[in-house]
Amino acid sequence: YTGKTGLQLLTERMKKLTVHDYQSIPVVVNESASVYDAIVTMFLEDVGTLFVVDHNSHLVGVLSRKDLLRASIGKQELESIPVSIIMTRMPNITICEQEDFLLEMAKELIDKQIDGIPVVKKVEEDEQIRYEVVGRLTKTNITRAFVDLTNGEIT
Ligand code: ADP
Repeated sequence: YTGKTGLQLLTERMKKLTVHDYQSIPVVVNESASVYDAIVTMFLEDVGTLFVVDHNSHLVGVLSRKDLLRASIGKQELESIPVSIIMTRMPNITICEQEDFLLEMAKELIDKQIDGIPVVKKVEEDEQIRYEVVGRLTKTNITRAFVDLTNGEIT
């Protein structure tokens, strides 16, 4: 008998969870898409964060709900504004990989005050590091992990 408390066991299990086990499917838009298109996509796909990719499907930006709201306050035609001028762009994007620990990324969501993180795979092209978007990690995924941890253990 190891003498571990319930809390120690729970903490150990929590520390082992990875992004891979809880990520969602990413929703992406092309950098040439209009703000109008992005708004429609956000509603149809029912997500809070869109990832912006270039013609090679590499990550170039992130769009949040408030980014799109902010752009909508202006008087400009939303069909004529490309998302690339309002998005948060690389290299200022917090990214993660499938092997990363969920707890680390939960801390990132809190520290950076963001709702979602693109899950990426590194690819090298023309001696440059690029990122392919393979998933989406959100506060909802973290909440699911939190609930899963208590399953059957705590009543
Ligand atoms: P909202 O703006 O709708 O509250 P967020 O809190 O996720 O949603 O986004 C806040 C700001 O941070 C936005 O300008 C958004 O573009 C940016 N952002 C969102 N996700 C990321 C990320 N993973 N890395 C860097 N910036 C991000």
